[in-house]
Amino acid sequence: MPELPEVETMARGLRRKITGLTVEEVRVFDRRVIADFDTGRFVREMTGAAFRAVERRGKGIIITLDRGKYLFVQVKMTGYFVYGPDLRENGGSGETKVIFRLSNGDFLNYNDQRLFGWLYLVDRLEDIPYLTTIGPEPLGKDFSVAWLTRELKKRSSPIKPLLMNQQFIAGIGNIYASEILFSAKVNPKKRARQLTLRQIEDVHRHTVSILEESIRLRGTSMRNYRDAQGRKGRFMDRIRVYGKQDEDCPECSQPIIRIVQAQRSTFYCKHCQK
Ligand SMILES: [Zn+2]
Repeated sequence: MPELPEVETMARGLRRKITGLTVEEVRVFDRRVIADFDTGRFVREMTGAAFRAVERRGKGIIITLDRGKYLFVQVKMTGYFVYGPDLRENGGSGETKVIFRLSNGDFLNYNDQRLFGWLYLVDRLEDIPYLTTIGPEPLGKDFSVAWLTRELKKRSSPIKPLLMNQQFIAGIGNIYASEILFSAKVNPKKRARQLTLRQIEDVHRHTVSILEESIRLRGTSMRNYRDAQGRKGRFMDRIRVYGKQDEDCPECSQPIIRIVQAQRSTFYCKHCQK
């Protein structure tokens, strides 16, 4: 599932490619990717619309259009954009669900193999439930040590599922939560309010540095994720514990163990993470 760095990479790629272009034609091949299933309205209102700006919020992409509208994309598991040729015409598969023909002659393809993602076309971002419920951006100014200390003191949940809770902090999923806690040397089972100040500072610092490093490397490619130019992300090579059950811990050589927390796998080193 794409997390903050992958969605940020997609948003940056799109921003570079589509800002200033106008949509000349829209084809929807599967109405289930349109959030309200109203393909007719989507095609009518997107045709002729200009892309003004592209931003990321949490794990979603906000594309500001002219005419006071927004296209919001929640990519979920398998959604991603490919900018370039028309993929239905050029050896693509049924994965391509929506194609925008642009004013410069190129195409923006929205691919989604398993149909978990959604495209919302709205007048107000407040109408998108996801955007009104997510917590602060971990790379934004609201995510400070003081804020984190105050909020962790209120919570008795284990730290790992809390970091993945989108209402708590936006954009962090299973891979980065595991990596952040390994770098901070914090046991994923430790209750949020029991972290020491030193541990809170370490979680804060590694949250920022790991997400920034991954953005620099264009994210982690698991399954279908690609950036807007179809490239894979290179953070995969920097992963130290996620998915590495029974491999040697890179710090102490004890085996990495896997446990299940809130129905999700957690990978950690019992020896290094206290
Ligand atoms: Zn270790």
